[in-house]
Amino acid sequence: MSREQLVVERTRKAFLTGSTKPLKFRIQQLQCLLRFITERRKDIADAVHKDLYKVTEHGTELFETLGLEGDIQLAIEKVWEWAAPRPVEKTLLTISDEVYIRPEPLGVVLIIGAWNYPWAVTLKPLVGAIAAGNAAVIKPSEISSHSAKLMEDLLPLYLDKDLYPVVTGGVTETQELLKQRFDHIFYTGNCTVGKLVMQAAAQHLTPVSLELGGKSPCFIDKNCDLNVACRRITWGKFVNCGQTCIAPDYILCEASIQSRVVEEIRKCIKEFYTEDPKTFKDYGRIVNQRHFRRVVALMEGSTVALGGDRDESQCYIAPTVLKDVTGTSTVMTEEIFGPVLPIITVSGLDEAIGFINEREKPLVVYVFSHDKKLIRRVITETSSGALLANDCLVHATVSALPFGGVGNSGMGCYQGRHGFDRLSHLRSCLIKKLNMEAVNSMRYPPHTAKKMGW
Ligand code: NAD
Repeated sequence: MSREQLVVERTRKAFLTGSTKPLKFRIQQLQCLLRFITERRKDIADAVHKDLYKVTEHGTELFETLGLEGDIQLAIEKVWEWAAPRPVEKTLLTISDEVYIRPEPLGVVLIIGAWNYPWAVTLKPLVGAIAAGNAAVIKPSEISSHSAKLMEDLLPLYLDKDLYPVVTGGVTETQELLKQRFDHIFYTGNCTVGKLVMQAAAQHLTPVSLELGGKSPCFIDKNCDLNVACRRITWGKFVNCGQTCIAPDYILCEASIQSRVVEEIRKCIKEFYTEDPKTFKDYGRIVNQRHFRRVVALMEGSTVALGGDRDESQCYIAPTVLKDVTGTSTVMTEEIFGPVLPIITVSGLDEAIGFINEREKPLVVYVFSHDKKLIRRVITETSSGALLANDCLVHATVSALPFGGVGNSGMGCYQGRHGFDRLSHLRSCLIKKLNMEAVNSMRYPPHTAKKMGW
């Protein structure tokens, strides 16, 4: 029996004791998770620094732990409300019955995390899993190995170690886990592995949530405030060295504003990361050489308008803007997931919408404009996991909004109550009384015309 099989068996056994059912227990575990994040903030920041060269503890707090803490606090506060039976509208037939939806735990959930925000993307689904009363096997990404090790060492000191074990390892270990039977698999990562996860899940008819990536377009209206728009885009694109699933992947704008967009982004890069981002403490690195080479290769054949410097020994790529890119350029063949921002010029909104709709549905569609009608057209004429107008990334911080993709960018959403519902079984409950049998006579055979009232 493999280590992974043993872990899953132990987790299921622990789940079957029923200890996760009382809300008090769930809240207590969520409080422990919160205590872990607050007490180990420094250790978490150190691990993230080693994994992704994020130097400042504040940067890690802002992008990893702050949202996580908010999610945990919300779940602690609201789990009573989320888990309560949900009465539904009655009809004449159910007027004297009890009719409600009862959220119930699914069982044992497998959470497979990615490396780019190793704490947020791995522990946020765990918040929903715990709140919904599940047990969970947690598999952090091997690429962010320092964070994975810390999670493995420290989480069992805070959470019930039989119900929420951490399994570390690489592809082999993940594949061994995927052979086991789970009640839900929550995967965050790329589309190729997403398909493998879904195939493995199909063997046990296990439902999946796939939080994937894609190329999120960003349309800039020529009449908008380019200074503010480019400030927000520069921030959203280059934070974490472009390794953010919801980062704007490329810009669509009219040719008449392309050089102004480049100029505004140039100013913002200088303001945020100085003239020399390589030596600046808030500018990150590509996670490893494989990804470094992949991002560099994507730039091939395009015209560099800004940046372009690189240093393989440090996995450094300067904040880079490419201009006059076309839909068939190499950089448009896959999600960039690095600090490279192509600009594609279009004749106007119609062409931009056509360009977006010819491609896979993205995780986010971004639009910058003062014109509400224009924004509304982008909303109604495109499809994506989320739509954000006049800003970048921040929709992910609104816990009332579901976070997730559609089509190629993923399936299933989470965050706040959406995470609770995603990892719950919404059980239909109808409780009738054994009296008033006469009203049922019509449904019992023989079905005579007299009984039917004809
Ligand atoms: P990764 O390489 O760390 O893979 C994620 C997990 O998949 C790891 O735990 C790994 O062990 C496992 N894995 C890798 N290859 C496997 C295989 N052949 N079989 C089984 N398991 C395997 O992460 P990644 O995929 O490079 O992450 C980056 C991608 O994730 C980007 O596309 C990004 O957009 C996406 N992402 C999406 C979200 C979201 O919320 N939608 C968040 C973060 C990242």
